Amino acid sequence: MNSDQDSLHFETRCIHVGVDKDSAFNSCTTPIYPTSTFRWEGLGQTKGYDYTRSGNPTRRALEENLAALEGGIDCRATSTGMSAINAVLHFFKPGDHIIAGHDIYGGTYRLFDSVFTGMGLKFSFVNMEKPENVKAALTPATKCIWIETPSNPLLNLVDIQAVCAVAKAAGVMTIADNTFMSPYCQRPFEFGVDVVVHSTTKYLNGHSDVVGGAVISKTKEHAERVGYIVNALGLACSPFDAWLVLRGVKTLGPRMEAHQRGAMAVAQFLARHPQVLKVYYPGLPDHPHHELAKRQMTGFGGMLSFDVKGGREVAGKVMTTSKLFAMAESLGGVESLIEHPDTMSHLSMTPEARKAAGITENTLRVSVGIEHPDDLIADLGKALKAAAS
Ligand SMILES: *Cc1c(COP(=O)(O)O)cnc(C)c1O
Repeated sequence: MNSDQDSLHFETRCIHVGVDKDSAFNSCTTPIYPTSTFRWEGLGQTKGYDYTRSGNPTRRALEENLAALEGGIDCRATSTGMSAINAVLHFFKPGDHIIAGHDIYGGTYRLFDSVFTGMGLKFSFVNMEKPENVKAALTPATKCIWIETPSNPLLNLVDIQAVCAVAKAAGVMTIADNTFMSPYCQRPFEFGVDVVVHSTTKYLNGHSDVVGGAVISKTKEHAERVGYIVNALGLACSPFDAWLVLRGVKTLGPRMEAHQRGAMAVAQFLARHPQVLKVYYPGLPDHPHHELAKRQMTGFGGMLSFDVKGGREVAGKVMTTSKLFAMAESLGGVESLIEHPDTMSHLSMTPEARKAAGITENTLRVSVGIEHPDDLIADLGKALKAAAS
């Protein structure tokens, strides 16, 4: 990012950084370059691209944009969030040890615990709410601390700065999955994180119409390594998918404002509702990490969970009775979603692990969309009433 872009506000970067790629006709949006290969002009002479797995101008536009939003120096856009995580795990070799939270995204847990464990990497899954637990899990073989905050589905926070201090003291790198918050609400580099990954499927694209991922680096060394791995493993996203995310990300700021306005209104409504046992939203003053949320986040985000009275049947009925909250996994799109972690998003965990993480048959997770909060509240109110009767 050049120094001009450095001075721009976040919302302005979303719209402008990387976008201007058409010197032929000056189109205001980035063209899609659906080509596998690029013509050379002579020996050693290209216009910057030779083969789309290695690089493509549409994908490059997105990469420049996302690097600027996180405050990194470079980015690689990948085909999914999982391929971004797969890419950074290739920093490590058999015998290396990685510390991660016990309540990380289920797909990440599966990749670590089955695929990479089988390839000789070692993992410790600890409760990262307390940085002391991370320190206690360090071994001479520890090479990385994996940070995901807030956690899914119960919105527990990890103190990024404190965990990075533990990592720095031990000479260990930190990687943060910033999917849940998006760089609008949380920028892990500002607290000392080395590499940031995203599932762009969620808030960055925001329209539930593409899957994608990204790896953002802060140093030249990491950027070059990530670029090499993404090319060598063939993890990059298609120009079409890059274009969709680039279009979606332009409205990230206003969308996040609407998401968190709605989430706060819904959380406050649920907190007062007689059918609701507990609400998990970092924006509520009684959330156990509310003060930390105010310190490390610039907004409370659009995700919340709650426990409904009456068990699994009632929880199921709330989801199927609601008209505006689609019963579906995933998150971060403009439309509101509701799901049952115990039988849907977190089914890949063992029942014991779900119980240990605090997920019950009463728990419902909500991705609050950008519909009018009053409509969402009225709809949830009706669904709760119908489910109770
Ligand atoms: C969805 C998600 C992923 C995986 O991303 P995909 O695009 O589905 O591959 C990783 N981490 C978090 C926190 C997610 O929510």
